[in-house]
Amino acid sequence: MNANEINDTEEYRNSIKTVDSDGKRIWIYPKKPKGSWTNARTYVSWVLLAVLFALPFVKINGNPLIRLDILGRDFYLFGMHFTPQDFHLFVVAMLTLVVFIALFTVVFGRLFCGWVCPQTIFMEMVFRKIEYWVEGDSSAQKRLNKAPWTPEKIRKKVIKQTLFILVAVLIAHTFLSYLIGPERVFNIITSSPSENFGGFLAMIGFTGAFYFVFASLREQVCTTICPYGRLQGVLTDNDTIQVAYDFVRGEPRGKKKRKPARKANPIASMQAAVADTDSATGVSEAPPLKVLGDCIDCTLCVQVCPTGIDIRDGVQLECVNCTACMDACDEVMVKIDRPKGLIRYDSHNGVVNQTRNIFTPRAIAYSIALGVLIIVNIILFAGRTNVEAIILRTPGKLYYETEQGEISNLYNYQLFNKTTELYVPEFRFPDHPDAKIQFIGDAPELTPDMMSEGAFFILLPEDQVQERKQSIKIELWEGDKLLESTETNFLGPIK
Ligand code: SF4
Ligand code: SF4
Repeated sequence: MNANEINDTEEYRNSIKTVDSDGKRIWIYPKKPKGSWTNARTYVSWVLLAVLFALPFVKINGNPLIRLDILGRDFYLFGMHFTPQDFHLFVVAMLTLVVFIALFTVVFGRLFCGWVCPQTIFMEMVFRKIEYWVEGDSSAQKRLNKAPWTPEKIRKKVIKQTLFILVAVLIAHTFLSYLIGPERVFNIITSSPSENFGGFLAMIGFTGAFYFVFASLREQVCTTICPYGRLQGVLTDNDTIQVAYDFVRGEPRGKKKRKPARKANPIASMQAAVADTDSATGVSEAPPLKVLGDCIDCTLCVQVCPTGIDIRDGVQLECVNCTACMDACDEVMVKIDRPKGLIRYDSHNGVVNQTRNIFTPRAIAYSIALGVLIIVNIILFAGRTNVEAIILRTPGKLYYETEQGEISNLYNYQLFNKTTELYVPEFRFPDHPDAKIQFIGDAPELTPDMMSEGAFFILLPEDQVQERKQSIKIELWEGDKLLESTETNFLGPIK
């Protein structure tokens, strides 16, 4: 029986640490983390926050780098314009993203949550820091919340909540900029609410939602709401690298002071020798000396945890890999002159057997699936045209023969211009150079981002119509640039 089996009764998995037995919320007051991991995450968060706030303003060839106008069904990615006609690209891209997330999680667990997820970054690097700045560390916060309403308490609470609301306003405006663009957001800000009531309501709604999430809901998003968090149970395994407590080295835990050189384990040797002697001689029974692991049970790793868990219980879904416990424990290990890394990034197999393997059959299978999907994406994106044409024979209409000896078919067309350029396409028939086209009304002009529709006749010389039903290839050209190529049916007399 190893140390893990002794301690890991898994009862902690039956409840979450932020809810008591009556179902009431237990508010978490995590101690302020400090250390090299926290510093690294802070620097990364600065870069990510700068990117997050700047991206809506970045343009490529006049197009937004990214815009996801769901209501307007208008999407830009890397400056490329996507319309509902590109839905298949969106589906394949999303599938690729899901497989990538699965692969990443199989190998690195919830690393994304700790380092990249906007929820963690805003919570731990913005709102929590404001809280520490205004109210002090966890014990000061607890004292303040228990204290009666004095002018000092009111002052601190007003400052904190005001800053929270201001940051929520900023996030809401940025979020809306991703949806409808910063120009329209600016227009909403600068016009009166009555002029832009929908936009005004969206601002209020998003601000309220973000304020609620970061001021009140907090870690509940990660521990109970986020679907990615719930996926951990099926995606991670004993080879997944995550924030892990080295129970082999740490257990049995205890506050007993000791000499640092445990590895040689002289006490254990003495105990064994005493036990051997006793069993051989029948002399007994001196109480055995307790040999402790490196964990001194200071609970600092629990005190800093923003989700309130004890990582020493084992890997848990609630752990967002924020590294706070790693820093806290490293500091303790330095003080007691033991190696850092009692809590570290490692896999279960790494802790137990010292074997680390990220190329597991599962990871390889996901990698192959991801590779295939990436190739499919490349092919689909490479074949994507700026104009999409849907040209179908008008239902219920047969062909007719003209006096000039031509066969004529009537078609309806829909042309989607996915770009910000104006096109006046020329229709060509590569397999039928003698074919003619007659528009009903004007020839189409494809204005940016718009659909143009109408009808036209295609006329073929009778001798080129060999079958009752044949296909005819149609190309749309703008100068020497092929915009789109499609095929449709052409009916003729039976021969
Ligand atoms: S911080 Fe380290 S030494 Fe302290 S309780 Fe946690 S694991 Fe044990
Ligand atoms: S267990 Fe450690 S890494 Fe996980 S959430 Fe708590 S403090 Fe962060």
